[in-house]
Amino acid sequence: MKPSLRLLTFDLEDWYHILDHPETERPEQWISFPSRIERNTERILNWLRERKVRSTWFVLGWVAERYPELVRRIAAEHDIAAHGYAHQLVYKSDRKSFREDTRRCLECIRQAIGRDVSVYRAGGFSVTKATPWFFEELAHAGIEIDGSIFPAARNHGGLPGAQWSKPFIVQGDGWQIREFPLMYQTIAGRRLVFSGGGYFRLLPYPLIRRFTARADYTMTYFHPRDFDPDQPVLSSLPVKRQWMSYTGLRTAPAKFRQYILDFEFSSIETADRTIDWSDRPVFRHEELFR
Ligand SMILES: [Zn+2]
Repeated sequence: MKPSLRLLTFDLEDWYHILDHPETERPEQWISFPSRIERNTERILNWLRERKVRSTWFVLGWVAERYPELVRRIAAEHDIAAHGYAHQLVYKSDRKSFREDTRRCLECIRQAIGRDVSVYRAGGFSVTKATPWFFEELAHAGIEIDGSIFPAARNHGGLPGAQWSKPFIVQGDGWQIREFPLMYQTIAGRRLVFSGGGYFRLLPYPLIRRFTARADYTMTYFHPRDFDPDQPVLSSLPVKRQWMSYTGLRTAPAKFRQYILDFEFSSIETADRTIDWSDRPVFRHEELFR
């Protein structure tokens, strides 16, 4: 693998797309909230344009259905990928409902941008040992690249024992998926994620810069709401989740703009073309869930 592969990615969601919370977990509830996604996304697109950096946007099917024009504007400058239709936790879905959600998402994105996408990330990285069918379902839906593996413990899933925190190949019967997992730094024996969401907002920037500088592979994940200090606060969220969701929103824009100034990032699709995949480890998909 070439040194310093740094990937810039976003999940295209609104401030109320908070997983696993009774007030925000279903699409029927989402339509009653005031939207902030267009304004928040345009701001990020401007920052990226200033730096001429290309990124990957994981689009919720529900968002593509309601804001097709926004998705087309992103697609004009960046790569588009799928993030499921209804932002459900994979480990709470059964195989059949996961299949339907994935296909509906791909169809909504196709309707919005007029072509198929083949890159996927699960809502909340919610792939666990309880979802051994995950990669097979993706392959059958036409997905070629996945970014759903979170090799540390987290609220919503994660594979904390996972040995892989660099790109690898997932092999099935007659199919392959190229995996771009999340990665971590080991601090005092614990795996610490620093490259997205609440972690990026909570950790001091010099630490994030140091971790990124010494890693030869960095996968980031941001959301438009990560940079919006004026979003409504869901006071019903448990205290720890409020802290993860709302701390550091005011300083995040400057931090992010410094981050894309200090490091060179690319989209997943661009990186995919530069990686020598014949060099990367291959795992049978069943192995990953043992
Ligand atoms: Zn998400």
